[in-house]
Amino acid sequence: MKVFWFPQHMAHQPEFFIMRGVVRRHHERPERVDVLREAARAAGLEDAEVPDITPDERTGIIDRLTRIHERVYVDFILGAHERWAQLPGAGPEIIPGIRAMPPSEAHPEDVAGLSGRFLGDMASPIGAGTAEAALAAVKVAETSAAEIAGGARLAYALCRPPGHHATQSVTGGGCYFSNIAAAIAVLRTQAPRIAVLDIDAHHGNGTQSLFWDDSDVLTVSVHADPVHFYPFYWGYAHETGGPEAKGFNLNLPVPVGAEDHTWLAAVRVGCDRIRDFAPDIVIVALGQDPHEADLLGAMRVTNDGFARAGALIAALARPTLVVQEGGYLSPDLGPATTEFLIAVQSG
Ligand SMILES: [Zn+2]
Repeated sequence: MKVFWFPQHMAHQPEFFIMRGVVRRHHERPERVDVLREAARAAGLEDAEVPDITPDERTGIIDRLTRIHERVYVDFILGAHERWAQLPGAGPEIIPGIRAMPPSEAHPEDVAGLSGRFLGDMASPIGAGTAEAALAAVKVAETSAAEIAGGARLAYALCRPPGHHATQSVTGGGCYFSNIAAAIAVLRTQAPRIAVLDIDAHHGNGTQSLFWDDSDVLTVSVHADPVHFYPFYWGYAHETGGPEAKGFNLNLPVPVGAEDHTWLAAVRVGCDRIRDFAPDIVIVALGQDPHEADLLGAMRVTNDGFARAGALIAALARPTLVVQEGGYLSPDLGPATTEFLIAVQSG
């Protein structure tokens, strides 16, 4: 069993973040990958560096991305920084200074104007290396999915930047492209029924929206109640799927500050729904940010809680692709990940 990663993620070094009006350094830092790789090795996974993207592969990845995201959006993410850097006095990262609001149907050409359409918040800055890192994360997801399609029982896609907030045409929460949708596109050729279990502290609104009307993909998310937590506008229990897929999206919000017992009860409900669905493959959107040591303070889940969540997933007894989402630097990021991965393999 392997952990797939790609050194190009280092090109993405987001700096700007604003929380409750205070500007501070972004918490989605490159060092996370070093900690998570080490944690995976400690859990017995083989370290697998994904080879460089060739020019042909790049074209292929972009082409496949345009079946997930709008082409204008993909083009914006890939080309925006070059245009931004030419603006007089531009800072190092694209941060939107305006929000595109309906009913305007204007199509400004200026990159600063477009940033208000394609960047959903100020938590997803685009720096010089962001687009290439985001493409690399997609390759990591596709490579890991191919490993599962080839018969592996478990693979860990150490994607960075993460992807579960990215919708068809809007970034969010440090996510640019949907790594999970890219993985599903690979897996679908052999596995018609796929379940996604998102245990990141934040609701996986991007994943939900991309499979909203698709009854072959069950999306389940356990997250801090959006009444009080990002992404605020999605993640409620009444969001159950589109007309063609009613009941194929399950949101399990838990109170901010929830401890193991409450969080695990929700994870168990999610796993029960997945068992009923009888998927060919389970994808876990792994965020370690529900952990009590995580700097965002969403919940109070312990290392043991992550081990128990891993055991619940292992009990589903399906080939499992773990895709990295959030979860930030803390002394417990590594240990929680190791315990989780050991438990997932125990099934
Ligand atoms: Zn998160």
